[in-house]
Amino acid sequence: MALAIRTESLSKAYGRVLALRGLDLEVEEGTVFGYLGPNGAGKTTTMKILSGLARATAGRAWVAGVEVTANPRAAQALIGAVVEVPRPYPHLTVAETLRYLGELRGLKTRVLNRRVEEVLGLLGLEQVAGRRGSQLSRGMQQRLALGAAILASPPVLLLDEPTSGLDPAGIVEVRNLVRQEAARGAAVFLSSHLLREVQETADVVGFLHRGVLLRVARVSEDAGAESYILEFAQEPPAEALEVASRMPGVVSLERKAPLRFALGFRGSPTERGELVAALVRRGAKVSYLGLASPGGSLEEMYISLIGGEGEE
Ligand code: ATP
Repeated sequence: MALAIRTESLSKAYGRVLALRGLDLEVEEGTVFGYLGPNGAGKTTTMKILSGLARATAGRAWVAGVEVTANPRAAQALIGAVVEVPRPYPHLTVAETLRYLGELRGLKTRVLNRRVEEVLGLLGLEQVAGRRGSQLSRGMQQRLALGAAILASPPVLLLDEPTSGLDPAGIVEVRNLVRQEAARGAAVFLSSHLLREVQETADVVGFLHRGVLLRVARVSEDAGAESYILEFAQEPPAEALEVASRMPGVVSLERKAPLRFALGFRGSPTERGELVAALVRRGAKVSYLGLASPGGSLEEMYISLIGGEGEE
């Protein structure tokens, strides 16, 4: 897989404030990278430098092979960004705004017509396509900004808090959109405070704290154990529980109610199947096994790396 985003010792100072301190980052094509960190960690600063909106104090950055720190213009053509939601053009309608931005991006009329229709649909903006920028709610502005970012199907998407201001349906739509964009090969660099959302969307997460990237982890493999609920139709034999708790992948097995257990598990689907088979073989009547949380683990990782503190 080729690298879509790369930074090398990227640093940014605002006066005496060091917002980024020697950031080394790599994001592959087709990957959703969740960028996590407390307020003031330097997430927006990173996004601004990558999108050519701010200059780095030191270091270099590339997007889709173009060095943004040397050729911001050329790099901007390869990026779709929602960094600090821009105010919409007050006099243009939603559809006109997309057409105008598509033309600026050099989309040919036929492609442009098709993409504007697609994007209106994808972002749930059909109903307000004729509404002027000045008349849009905050959530609609956010949707329009996202639509503009994906319009030209750029290889790199930079999304700073893309679901802020969206209603629950919008949050789900954006999550699906992000996965679709990654599926077509885009690298999606996404910041969020919502760990659960990142856990459900991102392939890889990076933890930033005080301008330093503390850790990069694959969500599925490294994010720790997943929590399951395991239920039985009747009291399982003690021996079955004993054996189960020593099976590969089992991190913990704890009784929560008479017939209900919390299972901490970090293993393959095959191992999970073998666990159930082993229980059944020893006479346990398994009535339910379901994911309780896809690893409260990202939260655990966040807290252990960063703690509950913000910038200061
Ligand atoms: P949040 O989660 O609150 O959006 P963030 O991780 O995006 O935070 P940044 O906005 O990148 O953090 O800010 C990083 C640091 O740089 C903070 O200490 C902030 O106060 C400082 N900073 C950001 N922009 C400026 C600026 N224009 N002038 C001076 N300091 C700035």
